[in-house]
Amino acid sequence: MAQDHPKVLLVEDEPAQREVLSYNLQSEGFDVVSAADGDEAMLLVEEESPDIIVLDWMLPGISGIEICRRLKSRSETRAIPVLMLSARSEEVDKVRGLETGADDYVVKPYSVLELMARVRSQLRRVRPASVGERLEFEDIVLDAETHRVTRADEPLKLGPTEFRLLSTFMEKPGRVWSREQLLDRVWGRDIYVDSRTVDVHVGRLRKALCVHGGADPLRTVRGAGYALG
Ligand code: CA
Repeated sequence: MAQDHPKVLLVEDEPAQREVLSYNLQSEGFDVVSAADGDEAMLLVEEESPDIIVLDWMLPGISGIEICRRLKSRSETRAIPVLMLSARSEEVDKVRGLETGADDYVVKPYSVLELMARVRSQLRRVRPASVGERLEFEDIVLDAETHRVTRADEPLKLGPTEFRLLSTFMEKPGRVWSREQLLDRVWGRDIYVDSRTVDVHVGRLRKALCVHGGADPLRTVRGAGYALG
């Protein structure tokens, strides 16, 4: 499945709570993968590259705090926002005090609405297009809510794949994306697509962006991939 939707990794050992949260996150339009303990969580971080992690403090085996510490100490996972769920307000003090690097926390029993708002607010930071934000890069404007793209105020026609490619680039201008990373983000892991397909769609995106003139804003980085700007 193509990843239009942000992916949430939910780590919660209570089956009932996991179900309720998972249901609510899916209703918000998120893709949800869930884990019942720390080992499974660490494995899914690796396999699924989630955009955000909702992490319960109290888990059998490795605690939420320890998972958070591990994630924040590795460069590959450091940037993934972690929203910690804790049962008591004393734990919140520890979340702050231990400097585990959790990006936010919610105390149980939480309001689902509040939790969803916190998740969206973290995603706005790391995956702005995925929550319908308007992105700008030089004279290019992408409105993720209406799926409209303009360049120098001229509307551009993009296919759905080109739109996802552009929003990926516009979320992180300057970042060099490898073909594999683009395949993951734009096509999703479950689909087998040849990496040359990426080149074809980047080519189409380039053409579409330059249809009314203007310089090509996409950069081919030899041996590495593509970047915007
Ligand atoms: Ca628990």
